[in-house]
Amino acid sequence: MLNIVIFGKPGSGKGTQASLVKDNYDLVHVSTGDVFRKNTSQGTELGKVAVQFMSKGELVPDEITISMLKEEIKSFMPCNGFIFDGFPRTILQAESLDDLLKSMELKIDLVVALDVDNKKLIERLLKRGKTSGRSDDQSEEKINKRLEEYDNKTKPLINFYKIQEKFISINGVGEFNEVTNRLISTIDSKI
Ligand code: ADP
Repeated sequence: MLNIVIFGKPGSGKGTQASLVKDNYDLVHVSTGDVFRKNTSQGTELGKVAVQFMSKGELVPDEITISMLKEEIKSFMPCNGFIFDGFPRTILQAESLDDLLKSMELKIDLVVALDVDNKKLIERLLKRGKTSGRSDDQSEEKINKRLEEYDNKTKPLINFYKIQEKFISINGVGEFNEVTNRLISTIDSKI
């Protein structure tokens, strides 16, 4: 089993790259953002709660996110492994993920970050907003809030995974397939 976290700021390309990389290793792609959006469009209770935070550019509270993620993981077992996109985003989420995987005698093997500077991220997200219809992509104010949430809550994970010698960062700027190739060769060199 191979379990990878694809890490990075909003707009760094995690979702796009995870869906390309998953096929290469036959992994299940779990995107917390996608699960929340699906629940929101289906009008579930979870969706109704999540959208209140997402639409403001805030993280959904840990308790809700962690229990949702646990259900997702269980629903895909057994499988060859996971590529986690948008999770974990807080230290508590990372610890819960470790605990859950440990209880199944599994672990995170590698955390790969896509490095993109803020100016480029804002540009990408505003452009995506024109076609995605995502409410959190519509204004620079909401995007800045997401970047602020990243700095306050998600950035500390870099050190959390560095200590475990699992963290590696790659350049996330370039053509889609260029970044995918960089990612795959980085993963191949580490597993
Ligand atoms: P992006 O990384 O481009 O912001 P995502 O689709 O990954 O896009 O996430 C969109 C929103 O979904 C986040 O801003 C947040 O509100 C919510 N979300 C996604 N993953 C998590 C998570 N692990 N913890 C809390 N909230 C999350």
